[in-house]
Amino acid sequence: MFASLFVTGLVRHLRDLATAHHEQTGLLDLTHDAVFVRSLDGVIAYWNRGSEKLYGWGRDEAVGKIEHELLRTQFPAPLDEIRRLVLATGHWEGELHHMRRDGTPIFVASRWSLQKGRYGEPLGILEINSDTTERKRAEEALRRIQAAYFAEAQSLSMTGSFGWNVTSSDIFWSEETYHIFGYEVTLKPSIASVMERVHPDDVALVTSTIERTATQKSDVDIEHRLLMPDGTIKTVHLRARPLTEWIAGKPDETVSTQFVGAVMDVTAQTKAYAALQESQAELAHAARLSVLGELAASIAHELNHPLAALAMNGDAGLRWLDRAEPNIAEASEAMRRVVADARRAGEMIARIRGLASRRSPQRASLALNEVIVEALQCVHYELQSTQIEVLLDLAPRPLTVLADKVQLLQVIINLIINGAQAMATVDDRPRQVVIRSRENETGQALVSVQDSGVGINPEHADRLFEAFFTTKSSGMGLGLSICRTIVEGNGGRIWMSNNSRRGATFQFSLPALRHS
Ligand code: ADP
Repeated sequence: MFASLFVTGLVRHLRDLATAHHEQTGLLDLTHDAVFVRSLDGVIAYWNRGSEKLYGWGRDEAVGKIEHELLRTQFPAPLDEIRRLVLATGHWEGELHHMRRDGTPIFVASRWSLQKGRYGEPLGILEINSDTTERKRAEEALRRIQAAYFAEAQSLSMTGSFGWNVTSSDIFWSEETYHIFGYEVTLKPSIASVMERVHPDDVALVTSTIERTATQKSDVDIEHRLLMPDGTIKTVHLRARPLTEWIAGKPDETVSTQFVGAVMDVTAQTKAYAALQESQAELAHAARLSVLGELAASIAHELNHPLAALAMNGDAGLRWLDRAEPNIAEASEAMRRVVADARRAGEMIARIRGLASRRSPQRASLALNEVIVEALQCVHYELQSTQIEVLLDLAPRPLTVLADKVQLLQVIINLIINGAQAMATVDDRPRQVVIRSRENETGQALVSVQDSGVGINPEHADRLFEAFFTTKSSGMGLGLSICRTIVEGNGGRIWMSNNSRRGATFQFSLPALRHS
């Protein structure tokens, strides 16, 4: 009885509203949204055409029914809480799950507005619902497609993602991250699960990185190995950055520190890179052997000097001793020369063995001027026998570079031999090689080898450093390409230019080490 009185009151109120806002009320039937009015207890008092269409219940069937029973509403929060909110604020918005008359479920975006009487007393609730089922389905489908694309892309690129809340220790892993670390997706990830996979030799590096990251909130960019349970080794490249400031909008010590990052399985690239390095080293070695082959006559000649001197001084020594009264002082002097000659020969052989050996490069601090002089010793006879004059213009201040000595020798020897070969046909001017070392204003050590040869054919200029490019009948075309690999591998650059008059100059730079 009370309810029907109440409904009558509400309807009257609505009719009053209708008279006052005639056009607006007409609109209520035009809109596709479901618009209805119900008492605070949920009894439906007004039911527009949109409601009939959306729910399948006619106006006569719906009016007087309890809305939540009729539509079997599922609320996103307890109903009492929502009611309290509406009474306090006059509004509520949220998503509801309803059932149509034919039993099909629908989602609606629902807006509630408290209707008040003349004296401000709450009369009922105006509810406007718009169907979001399709949108939700499309969103869900899109989300699923996006998730599938995302997972597929991560799997294809072997890149997993992760989130790490340093404050709460919570860690999130994408499916691919689980795959890279070799865990089931049911595992709750933790720093311990990461450490369990880190290769024993990289544990110190990873531990210190994690500690530094957590305390300094800095970017992370490391590469390390994993030792998987089946004994295989993976290399991963891990990058992460802190999110704290993005969330807080300002640096705030109290805000939790979170990191978002990516972990890439770079095992294949690392192996390919190692194989490339290996074959480059092979090639460089082969090229060194070929240079030694070219220098064989020189080397033999150079060795002959100390060997002949050895024999001579040995003879002299014996003669001083063979006397009726042996001259010990002269004999000792001859022996000292024997020792010095033997040492010279030994040094030469060591140098050649160094060039001929096949070993992995070892970087060390090298006195650049000394390496230049040693390179010259290797090609000394070659230059002498082809009437090439060498001018040395070395940096007065000692220059130190970090490089592998054999590699550096190889570069300088290559450039000198190329210069010598470019002058082989020169008869109308002095055959001259000028070797310079300098430190430039940006702290780079520079070495240049200038010749007075035929110069570079401009048509070939772009290709000189390419592997297998040669203009020589017996050339391999590897010298300059190996020089470039070595120089760039040590953080430098190599280039060339024609001289203003005759010949060409090849130069390379390497970072110079500071002397403290
Ligand atoms: P190769 O000496 O076996 O030809 P390189 O890679 O050392 O291989 O040199 C490639 C080419 O660059 C040479 O064939 C030559 O044409 C050119 N070149 C190198 N050095 C000089 C130079 N000092 N002057 C003129 N041309 C040069």
